[in-house]
Amino acid sequence: MELKIYGCRGSYPMARRDVLSYGGNSTCIHIRSASGQDIIIDGGSGIRSLGEEMMRREFGLGKGEAHVLVGHTHWDHILGYPFFDPLYQEGNRFVFVSAGQTDAHIKDILSGQHDDIHFPVPFADLRADMDYKAFKPGEVFQIGDFRVETVQLNHPGITVGYRIEADGRVATVYTDNARVRKVRLGDGQGGPEPDPVFTKVFLDRLSRTARESDIFIHDSHFFEHEMMGRYHWGHSTVEDALELAVLAEVKRLVLFHHAPEHSDTVVDEKLFLARDLSREFDFKVDCAFEGLTYKVGEAEGERARARAGERDGDEEVDLKLNHKRRPEVSS
Ligand SMILES: [Zn+2]
Ligand SMILES: [Zn+2]
Repeated sequence: MELKIYGCRGSYPMARRDVLSYGGNSTCIHIRSASGQDIIIDGGSGIRSLGEEMMRREFGLGKGEAHVLVGHTHWDHILGYPFFDPLYQEGNRFVFVSAGQTDAHIKDILSGQHDDIHFPVPFADLRADMDYKAFKPGEVFQIGDFRVETVQLNHPGITVGYRIEADGRVATVYTDNARVRKVRLGDGQGGPEPDPVFTKVFLDRLSRTARESDIFIHDSHFFEHEMMGRYHWGHSTVEDALELAVLAEVKRLVLFHHAPEHSDTVVDEKLFLARDLSREFDFKVDCAFEGLTYKVGEAEGERARARAGERDGDEEVDLKLNHKRRPEVSS
């Protein structure tokens, strides 16, 4: 299984010079199984670069097929779809897998972005074959090589976390998830006031879904001092992400959904804080950046692990990064 991050910024894309190290594009993650099957999680602005790469493969010939797991439909997670070139190529096939929103089907949400008051290209100009699979959070299903578990997250509307298993490895992605002890968010969650029973049940559910993940990608939008008055925004701190990582006994936590106002230096501080707080626990912590690639369980990943192990005990990070990184941050 190979997992690559194309966008890790939350709330909206950011183009300032001082965010370019981690990247300013909003959420998009690509997972490829050993046999070459594709899953995309989210269509934030990062999906534009993914599309360019896919068009250099069979998708450029109209012979590609991929499933898109829709985490939720807030703008930062969908605004890239109209700029995703493989959707315009006849012959490609995409299946959008989505829990939708309460009164809206994913097709209507996607086509709404092509209303001519927002965007001049009609939805009908997307020539790829687009299918839609609806589910309810909590369902488990198989997509080709991938076994997928789903769980509703603590975030406004309907927001889904995904546990994806393939090739004997596991990646779990919770892009947007608020502190469960402080607030109840989302349709059907009974909120907004915190509730001890809800807290226990919800934390159990979230940690069980992420159990023993090789890679656990989690919202860490805020620092503690930024949370006051913003609990209802639907996001977590480094401490919240670490708590779930410990409960779920994951092997690697990847901090994600960086606040748009956080410069590279500030995100560095988040990573250093997380590594400091997690020293006593038996898992690694990384901070997501555009181009970060994990090759989990493949021969090349094993070699990278062996090389990194000689250096500092780190593992599984693809060191062929597509931009310059300070080494203490990348691995
Ligand atoms: Zn978001
Ligand atoms: Zn959101």
